[in-house]
Amino acid sequence: MVRLQRQLLRAFVSTQAEEATRDQRFVATLETLLDLIRACARKPPLKAKVRDTRLNGRRAQEFCRLCGAPVELTAFAVGNDNTKRDDPGDVLRLSSVYCTDHRPQLPNGEWNPAYRKAKRALAQFDMELARLTKQSGNWKKVEAQSGDPLVDSYIYHYVRKHYLRPGDEAELRDHARSMADGKLSDRKKQMVMLERYGVSQSDAARRLGVERQAVSKALAALPSEFRQLPNLFGFPAYFLASTKVVN
Ligand SMILES: [Zn+2]
Repeated sequence: MVRLQRQLLRAFVSTQAEEATRDQRFVATLETLLDLIRACARKPPLKAKVRDTRLNGRRAQEFCRLCGAPVELTAFAVGNDNTKRDDPGDVLRLSSVYCTDHRPQLPNGEWNPAYRKAKRALAQFDMELARLTKQSGNWKKVEAQSGDPLVDSYIYHYVRKHYLRPGDEAELRDHARSMADGKLSDRKKQMVMLERYGVSQSDAARRLGVERQAVSKALAALPSEFRQLPNLFGFPAYFLASTKVVN
C-alpha cells in the first residue's frame, strides 16, 4: 500500500504539482497518511506468535542493518517463504538484524560474500544514508552538508531524480546500499556533476587536481544509473561559483 501511494505521489509531484499552497498541502496530507500506514504496520498483533513457531513476534521489526529490506525474521513472520529452511529448527536462527541477502552465514554454514562486502562498506553506507535523508527533506535547497559543493549538488540531483522523500526509508536505504556497493566515491560524484553541466574532462581534471585519464576512466567505468542526472534549474551556477579552480 505504501509503495502504491508513493508511486502516485511521485507521479503527481513530477507532472502536476505547482508551487501552489494547495498542492503543497495535498502532498503533505498524503505524506501524513503514509506515516499512519507505516505506524499501523509496525504495531504488533496482541497474540504475537510468529506463524507456527515458538518465536516471539514482538521483537523489533526493523530494516536490515545493511539495506532497506526487512530483517529476516520479519520477512518470515509476514509470510515470505524465501527464508524457509528445510530443517524446522533453523527457523529459530533467523536473523533479527539482517535480511536474507545479508545474513552473515549462508544456510550451508559458509560466510556470505554479500554480507562481507556490505560490511566493508558500512561507513560509506551510513554516510550516504545520512546525506540522502537530509536532502530528501528539502527539495528546494542543496542540503546534504557533505562539506563539498559538488558532492552536495550530486546528492541534490540524485534525490530529485528518484523523487526521494524522508518517508521513503526503505528506498533511501537501498540507494545508500547501491552507492556503497557500486563504489560511487565522492570523487566520482564530483566528476559526474561537472560532466553533467558540460565541463570538459580536461577542465574537470584541472579543477579536481587529477589526471584527465583518471576522469575518463572513472566515468567510463561508472554504472549509468549513477552517471545520468536530471537537468535542474539553478545549476551549474551554484557549484561553479563555489568551487576553487586548481591551477
Ligand atoms: Zn539487507
